[in-house]
Formats: sequence, structure tokens, C-alpha cells
Amino acid sequence: MKEIIENIKLNSDKAIDSKINELWNISTYIHENPEMCFEEYKACDAQCTFLENNGFAVAKNIGTLDTAFCATLSFGTKLPVIAVLSEYDALTIGHACGHNLIATSALGAAIGIKNFLETNNYNGTIKIIGTPAEESGGGKIILLINHVFDDVDSVIMMHPTSAPSRLAGECLSSKRISIEYTGKVAHAGAHPENGINALSAANLHLVATGMLRQHFKADIRLSQIIVNSNNQTGLIPELSQIKGSLSCFKLNDLEKCADIIKNCAIGCGNAMGCKTEIIIEDGYQGRIPNKVLSDICKNELVKLNEPLLEGMPIDFGGEDLGNISRHIPICNPYITIFPEYKISNHTEQFKQLAVSKAGLKCVEISSKSIARTCIQLFIDPSLIELAKNELKIRLENE
Ligand SMILES: [Zn+2]
Repeated sequence: MKEIIENIKLNSDKAIDSKINELWNISTYIHENPEMCFEEYKACDAQCTFLENNGFAVAKNIGTLDTAFCATLSFGTKLPVIAVLSEYDALTIGHACGHNLIATSALGAAIGIKNFLETNNYNGTIKIIGTPAEESGGGKIILLINHVFDDVDSVIMMHPTSAPSRLAGECLSSKRISIEYTGKVAHAGAHPENGINALSAANLHLVATGMLRQHFKADIRLSQIIVNSNNQTGLIPELSQIKGSLSCFKLNDLEKCADIIKNCAIGCGNAMGCKTEIIIEDGYQGRIPNKVLSDICKNELVKLNEPLLEGMPIDFGGEDLGNISRHIPICNPYITIFPEYKISNHTEQFKQLAVSKAGLKCVEISSKSIARTCIQLFIDPSLIELAKNELKIRLENE
């Protein structure tokens, strides 16, 4: 039986190999046409056309988002439902996070899984879900709220990385901070006694939160900047804003720390006699890794001779897949485009790597390992129940 299953997976690999040039052309096209947050029309169209041409039923403009899509292929009882996610938004400097590789790997995986479902007698539905605006718009959160993931049993998505490949562990949950101090303008030289200095309140807040850091848990990240203060030395600044972000691994710690920042902001405003307005909004929630799914994927990556880091290492990033991971078990392989050492995403160097030969290798390994993982789940759906159970226990202990 083991041999039969391995043969099935090898056939999936071959199907992916047969399309690798077409996949790479799409990856390059997306890289050369960077589109930001909710404006990824070209990338969306290129993927939908490829999936339609390969026999998937494609729905565009789903979950209220113009540039989201869902491509579906079902066999037998149509259950279980496994979703492979695609991302394709760029940054102001282009595809410096390599999301072109995420998109193309999802397409490659689609080809391998289609080969499996067509040529074997198993039940299931594969969905390739196009999720826009990861960098800033939280596309997946909008799709989750709008029921796009309601029938999905498991989710898998790759992300390109540097240093050796890995199965991603936990990452950070975050909040966005906005504080506005309003004081009173006055001539700084002639009548300072009539003014209320909003910039002083903002400075005081940075000093106070700086001192509080001593008492923060080690994983708490707080970054704040002052924006939009008056820039004339002859005036007492009447308006000052602080923008910031707060992040850490545990949602409970995040809430507690947000309260501390809020109290601090109020106290500093009061001290200077300013009116204080505070908005603290939810950012992305941290990823909950799933060991059951990750172990399956890890096993397939080993068979494909991909060197891997041990375990499921944590990282200090954040992604909207984290919100999904709190509802559906996810698997999040990070496949390298530069194994030698760590290069930060969102840099020119990473952008160049995302369209290099190493990027092509990354698409091949990612497509094959995602397809193989899904095939294993379709062959033995009891693994999905184990994955769901693991998530349930983890959420109970959050
Ligand atoms: Zn990214």
C-alpha cells in the first residue's frame, strides 16, 4: 500500500513538472506587474485563467473582494474540503515578500492534486482560494467574516523565506495604536502661558512607555513614532499624534499591554492638560501551528530532499493566515529561496531572489510538497479529524 501511495505522489510530481514552465511564466508576470492591496487585478486574472484552463470551476469577486477568487474541483462525496491559499499582493517596492511564489505554488499544487483526484477513486474537494491584500488589508480576515472558509476542513499555504526551509510555528499577534493629543496654540515667545503643548504630551508618552518596557514580557514589541506635530518653533504645538504597533505571542498579554499603553496615554495627556483621543485596533492574530498537518508536510519535504530546520520554529512576523489558523487547522511551510543565511523579506535583495532560479526551485518544491500533503489527507481523512482535535485543545488552553 505504501508503495502504491508513493507512486500516486510521484505521478502528482510529474504532472507539476509538465507545467513548470507555464507556472514560472505566471510567477514572472506577477513579479513584473506588482499590484498592491485590493488592486491585484492582473495577478488575479492570470491565476483564474490558468485554473479555468485546467478544469477548475472558478468564481471571481468572492467575499466582497474584487480581487479574491475561489477555484474548485470536486470528486465523489466532495468531502473533505481542503483549501490551498494563494497570495499575490506587492509592496511599494514591488514583490519584495515574494508573494508571486505563493500564488504560483498554489497553482502548481492544484495541478498535482487534480492529477490525483482524476486518476484515483477518492472523495474530496480541492479549493484554490485567492486571498488579496496580505501586506496591509487583511484580505483573509474579510473572506473569513464573509463565510468563504465556512466549509473548509484544512488549509495549507507556503511562504518563501531565506535560511533553511521550515514548518512555521507561532508568530506574533498585533494591534495598531493611534493617539491624538490636542492642546492650545500660543506665541511660544510672547505668551507661552496661554498655550497647551500637545507635543510635550506626546514626548512624555514615549518616555513613559519607554520606562514601562522594563516590565514588559520579553516577546512584547512596541514601536511608536510622533507624526503631524506643528513644525514652527514660534508656536506652541496644539496637535500631536502618535502612531504605533504593539505585538506579542499571546492574545491575553496583548490585551493587558494595550490597556497599559492606553492608561499611559491618558495620564500623559492629563499631565500636560491636553485632550486625548486613543484608538487601538486589532491587527493580525498570531499563527497557531498544527503539528498533525505540519508533520505530514515535513515528511513529504524530506522525501523531496529539502533540508529543514528542526521542529516548528517561532518567528516575530505576523500574517493574516494567523486569523484563519484560529478557526481551521493550517499548515504553513516556509520554503527557502536562499538557504545560506537569513535575509529580511521586504528588501530589494529578497525581491530579486523571488524572480531568480532559486525562486523556480522554490515553486517546484512548494507545489509538490503541498500537493503531496493534500493527497495524504484525501487518502486518510482521519488525519484531518486529528488536526481539528489538536486545534480544539490548543484553543481551550489559550
Ligand atoms: Zn509575505
